[in-house]
Amino acid sequence: MAETARFLLDESLLPKAWYNVNADMPVPPSPVLHPGTMEPVTPDFLSVLFPMNIVMQEVTPERWVEIPEPVREIYRLWRPTPMCRALRLEKALGTPAHIYYKNESVSPVGSHKPNTAVPQAFYNKEAGTKALTTETGAGQWGSALAMACSFFGLDLEIFMVKVSYDQKPYRRYIMENFGAQVFASPTDRTQFGRKLRAESPDSPGSLGIAISEAVEVAATSGGAKKYSLGSVLGHVLMHQTVIGLEALLQMEMAGEYPDVVIACAGGGSNFAGFAFPFVHRNLTEGKKTRIVAVEPASCPTLTKGRYTYDYGDTAAMAPIVKMHTLGHTFVPPGIHAGGLRYHGMAPSVSALVAHGDVEARSAQQLETFDAAVQFSKAEGIIPAPESAHAIRAAIDEALRCKETGEKKVIAFNLSGHGHFDMTAYQSYHAGHLQDFEYPDHAVEEAMTHLPKVPGG
Ligand SMILES: *Cc1c(COP(=O)(O)O)cnc(C)c1O
Repeated sequence: MAETARFLLDESLLPKAWYNVNADMPVPPSPVLHPGTMEPVTPDFLSVLFPMNIVMQEVTPERWVEIPEPVREIYRLWRPTPMCRALRLEKALGTPAHIYYKNESVSPVGSHKPNTAVPQAFYNKEAGTKALTTETGAGQWGSALAMACSFFGLDLEIFMVKVSYDQKPYRRYIMENFGAQVFASPTDRTQFGRKLRAESPDSPGSLGIAISEAVEVAATSGGAKKYSLGSVLGHVLMHQTVIGLEALLQMEMAGEYPDVVIACAGGGSNFAGFAFPFVHRNLTEGKKTRIVAVEPASCPTLTKGRYTYDYGDTAAMAPIVKMHTLGHTFVPPGIHAGGLRYHGMAPSVSALVAHGDVEARSAQQLETFDAAVQFSKAEGIIPAPESAHAIRAAIDEALRCKETGEKKVIAFNLSGHGHFDMTAYQSYHAGHLQDFEYPDHAVEEAMTHLPKVPGG
């Protein structure tokens, strides 16, 4: 009999609660600081940007947080997502390892991002918010939030990094289809944007700049608009844990338990969403699964950044948090995994790496595309370049098993598909892509601009 390749959960097994890793952290969280006073922020400060129901979720010590039924109803449009065994990839590699992947590319916009966009729109609607602002890089987050806002009847202004706005119009059309307004950042709609455009009219923009603009619009709207972030924050990571909670049940169906759990990390949300339920088992049940976060060598936040206090955005208006950072002045090189180009990392992911509960590694651009193409030829799915970092690490683990003869169980998160990234694939096939290692001296320079936090 052929081996089973797909593990599908019945709708009735869609999780009823999200998992909050803060309840189990081996080290207490470092306080979030006000960017002006550098004192711990109060819920009042955060409530300028976020509705109180989300602020309370950000600080809750509860281990399990109920998923509201209207959110579950929308999740059911594509969840539970499949967990697949990559039998054909295993065969192509000639490895004794078993490789599983959780397929988040089946969501309506093709990535894991709607898992948090939908509850964020829901909670804002509940709190009486009429309009949201946000930023987007290549457009994955923007398209997820645009869909969610259209479901709940919220207006949405999106600050899209200019270089992507110009070069990758299709995701912009998706956002506009859902009714969002999309602007090329830096714009002339904010003080910060106008200042940057005066200094450098040809600025290609960056995620840090776009965040600053979206935050400024919400913070100066007199309460009319709230801000929404697609990664990094605690509530965002928590919403994503539906991925790993489903995966635990699916591994049970498969009759196996992973020795290694892998996901790519930009701000940390798909990594946390997939891995934290396994981290939970490590921390509370003595399981010994290796948990691996993979990032680009060109944006090596966890592997080369410093674990310290830094601003969440370029304009130094967002709260200061303790995290691995390349410095808020980091200028990202133009690699093709746009979703992985943020200077910082989710504080909980950073804390777990610093404490040794999570491993971090980096991958070069070319070896990442090698892995993506190999995966697509075996399994038929063209992965997002971001997700391909996880695939690279999974293949490397499987090849090590081939050498040692170990039959390890490897599970990774396929965070999205690459259908809007085919220009990058084309450049790769044409031999135009290059490796780029972010230089140590650039990290050193950026560290001289860190906020001078007392005792930090
Ligand atoms: C946004 C994105 C990422 C990176 O963001 P995280 O918060 O680190 O998950 C990874 N993969 C895909 C497909 C994305 O859209």
